Amino acid sequence: MYTLGVDIGSAATKAVIMEDGQKIVGQAKVNMGTGTSGIKRTLDALLEDSGLKMEDFACVVATGYGRKWFEYADKEMSELSCHARGVSFLVPGVRTVIDIGGQDAKAIKVNSKGRMSSFIMNDKCAAGTGRFLEVMATVLETTVDQLGALDALSTERFQISSTCTVFAESEVISQLSQGKQREDIARAIHESVAKRTCGLVKRLGVEDKVVMTGGVAQNEGVVKAIREDLKKEIIVPEYPQMMGALGAALFAYEEVKA
Ligand code: ADP
Repeated sequence: MYTLGVDIGSAATKAVIMEDGQKIVGQAKVNMGTGTSGIKRTLDALLEDSGLKMEDFACVVATGYGRKWFEYADKEMSELSCHARGVSFLVPGVRTVIDIGGQDAKAIKVNSKGRMSSFIMNDKCAAGTGRFLEVMATVLETTVDQLGALDALSTERFQISSTCTVFAESEVISQLSQGKQREDIARAIHESVAKRTCGLVKRLGVEDKVVMTGGVAQNEGVVKAIREDLKKEIIVPEYPQMMGALGAALFAYEEVKA
């Protein structure tokens, strides 16, 4: 039996196919353009790769900020529950999930049954989210997927004092004109994202095992800065951006079995 989980985020649509709630048999991710075309392109890629059709899915669960736009969903679920569920499948015993996506950051507490028990979220401000990193990557004339490697070359440490994305952008432009190195600025940017995120995590209470999810978990500079701030081991699953879609596919399986 196949189930489908679709996570429609602000930056990317992610989809995962599971077989019998046990095995991941397909996954796809497409960055969102304008409108809903990213959702269609994700599904087209997934169906072509897997050789399956929409009718083959026993249940489809949609999650994420844009879940209401998805016409094929049998059920919608919050991304908080789906992240907790997806991570618990891959990392049994997880207690804290740190999720940084395109436009929000969340700290999620997971109970011994692998379900979300509480959370704290920043969705009011771009600072500390993937969007902040996208803006900063442009100023540094690079891309988000290169920021981590740039940070790894840093030799000098300093802080970005502005807490707002717009002011931080001006601050970084002025640091560049003062001759600061791009790699040191990348590190400072990552430490500023980590500081905001760890503020949320500490308010929630951090407990091992700690797992990081969302697209930003692919940035090793942010992961390192969070590890240093929390003084905890941070586990990053192989495909951290897919955890919400994976959780949705698992909930879809439970829906059929119930
Ligand atoms: P959403 O669910 O809101 O769409 P995601 O969890 O998909 O967000 O994360 C999107 C963010 O992940 C982007 O804003 C970007 O900053 C970051 N990101 C995406 N791909 C990469 C990558 N290869 N390396 C580092 N960061 C990335």
